[in-house]
Amino acid sequence: MISQETIQQITTRIDILDIVGEFVKLKKRGTNYLGLCPFHHEKTPSFTVSPSKEIYKCFGCGKSGNTITFLMEHEKFSYVETLRWLANRYHITIEETVQSEAGKQLQQAAESLYIINHFAQKFFSTQLLQTEEGSTHAMAYLEERNFSKETIEKFQIGYSPKSRMAFYHAATEEVYNVSLLEKAGLIINRQNSWQDNYSGRIIFPIHHITGKIAGFGARVIGQADKSPKYINTPENEVYSKSRILYGLYFARHAIDKENECLLVEGYTDVIAMHQAGIENVVASSGTSLTTDQLRLIKKYSNHLTIIYDGDAAGIKAAMRGLDMAIEEGLQVNLVLLPGNEDPDSFLKNTGAQNFKDFIAKNKKDIILFQVEVLMKDAGNDIHKKNEVVNHIATSLSKLNRIEDFSKLQAYTRQCASVLHIDEEQLTMLINKYKRDTLSKKEQQYAPNTADILSPEKAVTQEQNIVVTESLREKDVLRVLLEHGLKPWDENRTIAAYIFEEVAEYGFANPELEKLFELYKQEFKNGHEPTTKSLMYAQDEKVRQQVIDITAFPYELSPQWSRVIKDKPDNSSEKDLYHDDVQLSLHYFKIEKLKEMFEQNQEELEKTTDPDEQMKLIEIHNHLKRIQLKLNDLGAVIIK
Ligand code: ZN
Repeated sequence: MISQETIQQITTRIDILDIVGEFVKLKKRGTNYLGLCPFHHEKTPSFTVSPSKEIYKCFGCGKSGNTITFLMEHEKFSYVETLRWLANRYHITIEETVQSEAGKQLQQAAESLYIINHFAQKFFSTQLLQTEEGSTHAMAYLEERNFSKETIEKFQIGYSPKSRMAFYHAATEEVYNVSLLEKAGLIINRQNSWQDNYSGRIIFPIHHITGKIAGFGARVIGQADKSPKYINTPENEVYSKSRILYGLYFARHAIDKENECLLVEGYTDVIAMHQAGIENVVASSGTSLTTDQLRLIKKYSNHLTIIYDGDAAGIKAAMRGLDMAIEEGLQVNLVLLPGNEDPDSFLKNTGAQNFKDFIAKNKKDIILFQVEVLMKDAGNDIHKKNEVVNHIATSLSKLNRIEDFSKLQAYTRQCASVLHIDEEQLTMLINKYKRDTLSKKEQQYAPNTADILSPEKAVTQEQNIVVTESLREKDVLRVLLEHGLKPWDENRTIAAYIFEEVAEYGFANPELEKLFELYKQEFKNGHEPTTKSLMYAQDEKVRQQVIDITAFPYELSPQWSRVIKDKPDNSSEKDLYHDDVQLSLHYFKIEKLKEMFEQNQEELEKTTDPDEQMKLIEIHNHLKRIQLKLNDLGAVIIK
C-alpha cells in the first residue's frame, strides 16, 4: 500500500488545471475554466474546472470529481495507478507500507505494457545508435531521409537487429513476462519458438498523448518484398489504432498555437516536416480518420488540413471521414501535392517556406472539392449525378449547429452552382435529411416502457429518495467543511461547536457518517481537515461525498442562501457564516426531531408496559421542549 505521507505529498502537489488541461483544452471564464467535456459528446463547452475548489463539473452530463477521479475515469486508471502516475509526474518517490509480491502481481496489464514499451524503445535506440549493424544498415536509410541526430533522438527512432532473437534475449534476461511481450507485439511465436517481431526494421515509437509509448510502427528498410512495409503494434490495453494519431504528443502545442492541424499519411512525413520547423502535423497511419481521432484533434483546433499526395485512393480515404468531421464541427481543408510528390519529397525539393506557402495558397474546402471530384466522376450519367446530389445534401445536413448557419448557406449556394441545380431545391433536400436524422435520434431517446419497469430503474428511484432524506445531513457537512476551522466564539471553533450540537443526533446516511467521523478524527489529530485534504481520502465513497457537497452548495440549501443574501449590507462576514451554520444545524435538528417523534410514537403504540409507556411519554415531552426552543431560535435567526 502507498503510505499516507506519500499520498499527502502527491495531493498537495496536484494542480487540476495542469492535469485536466493535458486532456481537455481549457479556456478561462471568470474564475473558472471551460472546455469540451471528454466524457460526453458536445459541441459547446460545458465542462467546468474550478482551480480554487480543485474540482471539475460538466453541466451537460453531470460528471464531476477531482483530479484523481478525472484520471481514473479518463485514463481508466485504478486509484493506485492514478497515484503512481501523479507521483511520477511530480517526481515524488512512492513509499510503500507493505511491498508485497501480491501487490506486484496486481499491477495492471496497462502499466506493465508501458514499462515494456519503454524498455523496448531504449533497446531499439541503442541498437540504432551504438551498434555496427545499426549505424551502417539502418542509419544509412535515415540519413538518406536527411533525418538529423536531434530528430532521431526526439522521436526516439530505433532499430531492431536482423538477428531474430536479439530483443527476445534482452527482454527475457530482464525477466519480462513472455506473454506480455507478445501482447505488446514485440515478439511472436513462429513454429513453436519465440522470435522478434520487428527484426531488421526501423522502429518508430508511437506516443500516447502523455508521452508514454503506446506502441510501435516498424518499417522495412529498402523495398518490401513479401513482407508488409509497416508492422504495427496489435491492439492491446494501451494501443488502439483508432484512438491514436502519430506525432500528436510532439505537435499538440504547435497545433494549439497555429490553430490548425495538418494531417499527412506517413510517420516519416510527420518527422520530416517537424525537422523543417512545421510542427503542427500528425499522421493517421494510413487508416481513414475515426471519430476518436477527430476529437483528439478538436481538443487543440477546429481547423484540420489534410495533405495528400495526388493519388485517388488517398483522396477517397480522406473523404470517408468527411461527414464525421463536419458533425464534429471541424473545418476541413484539403491540399493536393503536385505530381508524384509526398510531403517528405516535396519538402526536400522546395524547402520549408515554399511548402508553407503552397499549403496556404492551395488549401481547398473539402466539401467543395468533393462536389467537383464527384461531378467529374459522374460525367453525363444522370443516375450518378442524382447520387452525387443526395450525397452532398447528406453531408451538408450534418452542419446543424447555430453557428454553422451562414456557412451552410454559403455551401448550399456554391454546391448548387457546381451541381447545376436550383439552390432552393438543394436547401429542401438538406432539410429533409436533417429531419430524418432528427427523428432517428428521437426514436433513440424515446422512453421505453421496459426500461421504466426494469428493476435497475427502481433501484435508482430508491437511491434518489435516500439522497433527499440525507439533504439536511449533507448540509451540516457542508458547513463543517466550509467553515469548520473558523472561530465560533472565543473558546471554540465552528467544528468543535458542530461536534457538540450534532452529538446526540448522529447521521443516518452511513457514507456521511464516515465523512463526519473522518473529519472529527483529523481535527482531533490537529490536521486541520479541509475540503481539499478530504477530497483525496482513500475511501472512494467519502471522496465522492466531499465532491458532491462542494460542487453543489446551492442545491443543498436554496432557502437559506436566499435568506442570507437578503441580510442588510452591514452584516459582517462572521455574521454570515454564523447564520449559515446556525440555520443548517437548525433544520438538521428539526428533521431529526421529526424522525424521533415518529419513532417514539410508534414505540408508544406498540408497548403495553405502563413503566415503558411513562418513559416514552417523558421522552416525548423532552423532545417537545427541544422543539419549542428550536422554533423560538429559528424565528430569531430567520428574522
Ligand atoms: Zn459531460
